[in-house]
Amino acid sequence: MEKISLPVVVCPVCNNAHNIEEVLTAQSNQNVIYHCPNCGYEVKNIETSKG
Ligand SMILES: [Zn+2]
Repeated sequence: MEKISLPVVVCPVCNNAHNIEEVLTAQSNQNVIYHCPNCGYEVKNIETSKG
């Protein structure tokens, strides 16, 4: 297994770290859904840009 240098996201509920592409799903309306595969925690409409 090669070590991939993808950014990781730490779940605020279970503190498990997952690759960002594993837990984040981009929607067609530019919203992003976070889903933790470990505990099932889900957050919708994450702001992806800060202005
Ligand atoms: Zn979790």
